[in-house]
Amino acid sequence: MSNRIIIKNGCVVTMNDAADVLFDGAVVLEDDKIADVGGTAEVLARHSTDGARVIDAAGQAVLPGLVDLHYHTALGKGWSDHLPLWEYLETCWYPIIRALDYEAAYWAALASYSESIKCGVTTVNDMYRQLIALADAAEEIGIRAVLSNDIADAEHDLDSLEDNKEAFQAKNGAANGRVQVYIGIEWLPLASEELLRDARLLADDLGTGIHIHMNESLTEVENSKQRFGRRPTEVAYDAGILGRNCIAAHCVWLSDTELALMRETGTQISHNPTSNAKLGNGIARLPEMLGAGINVGLGHDAAECNNSRDLFEVMKFASLIHRASRVDASLQQAPDVVRMATRNGADALGLAAGQLVTGKKADVILVNLKSQMFTPLMPENSAHLFSHLVFAANGSCVDTTIIDGKIVMEDRQLVTVDEQKVLREANDAFRRILDRMVVPPPA
Ligand SMILES: [Zn+2]
Repeated sequence: MSNRIIIKNGCVVTMNDAADVLFDGAVVLEDDKIADVGGTAEVLARHSTDGARVIDAAGQAVLPGLVDLHYHTALGKGWSDHLPLWEYLETCWYPIIRALDYEAAYWAALASYSESIKCGVTTVNDMYRQLIALADAAEEIGIRAVLSNDIADAEHDLDSLEDNKEAFQAKNGAANGRVQVYIGIEWLPLASEELLRDARLLADDLGTGIHIHMNESLTEVENSKQRFGRRPTEVAYDAGILGRNCIAAHCVWLSDTELALMRETGTQISHNPTSNAKLGNGIARLPEMLGAGINVGLGHDAAECNNSRDLFEVMKFASLIHRASRVDASLQQAPDVVRMATRNGADALGLAAGQLVTGKKADVILVNLKSQMFTPLMPENSAHLFSHLVFAANGSCVDTTIIDGKIVMEDRQLVTVDEQKVLREANDAFRRILDRMVVPPPA
């Protein structure tokens, strides 16, 4: 007996090639896949409702779930919020993640994933430590997760290639393929060229992808020029890191040459404008990236550098920051921004998701249109709807989140975990880790 969900009478924002919006639309989910999409009357004529869960989506928009393309599970949000990136990493982020144990990572992941699900995110590309704990949390709460370690040279006391290989062998493909494992490189300041080459060899050997921070800050670029005599993306290119299955996060300070290398290799970029702004890292050259034909998705980065996991906020930032800095209101129009947060992110990860199209993964969200955020709303006007999704909405507009054909949030209630328990345990874990973490003296 298959598990079927029929969503009817909704405003279906397909994000398909033709950018169709079906104003009285229906979507049929069968097990983990989308089985049909169309007008409500025609879909109901094709599919019996017998044995199906029927959701009446009148007054709601139906969208593909959002893909958070650069993500870290986070434990210490709001702690040492005033520091620039390098100092923040040394005195807060690294000490916290060096002190992590399974228990703390598990509860931090559940707290992180639960906020994402409540904001309509169905896939996270999560670089963190203790991957067994993250995979267990993802399996339990029901989110789609691409997990990677935080690999650095041994002297930095983070993860090794061997740690990531073990996690791959233990968890890649878990939960009906909902959990995947990539190879994660922290960033070039903590990596030798040999480590980068070995990471690419391991990824190719395992048949998986790579997740890395690239050109995030000016300090990173200077460090690369001093240590390697070249800019970060040039070093990564020479080591073979870049490629179709490489997610390069940030890419704020790309030279024209580096932009061309990203394009030549088909590297995927995660644009994280809120994090870049909060940490004072600058504004990525998004218009040039898109103009070059590079695939760009969106990420919140980590709750420590955002401080919210709400990808609707990131969408708004991804438009406004470029309009403000270039003095050009025509930039980053709403449908293009929604596309970055859905199908561009899915494409970057090689996932058959990010669109409401037959055969794609059953990752679907329902957005409540009966609120101030979406008022006024002209009926059957897709431009008006897209505008509200990007410029007026926040994650609390999401009513229902369905991942891999299973409802994981309904009426804004998480159905797979005890939300209050998750929050209590994440609080306790933070206090335990604070007691244990060792902050190095200033250099
Ligand atoms: Zn990051």
